[in-house]
Amino acid sequence: MAGEYGAGPMAMVMSGMPEVISRLLEEHVPDRLGRCTACGASGSGTRWPCTLAQIAAQARAVAAEQSRPKL
Ligand SMILES: [Zn+2]
Repeated sequence: MAGEYGAGPMAMVMSGMPEVISRLLEEHVPDRLGRCTACGASGSGTRWPCTLAQIAAQARAVAAEQSRPKL
């Protein structure tokens, strides 16, 4: 069920793409001013965590939850 982990549909889909999650979390990090370095490159100065960083973090949490063995 979507939202089971408080994650949106994008995060649910992305949870099956660990390489995408890793790349997003590597690229979308805060600079010294608290802005996303990846999104800020376009000059928008998006505050971190940006939307992509939030989705990637949710996706990682979903993936971790799903990989946990069920008792
Ligand atoms: Zn970003």
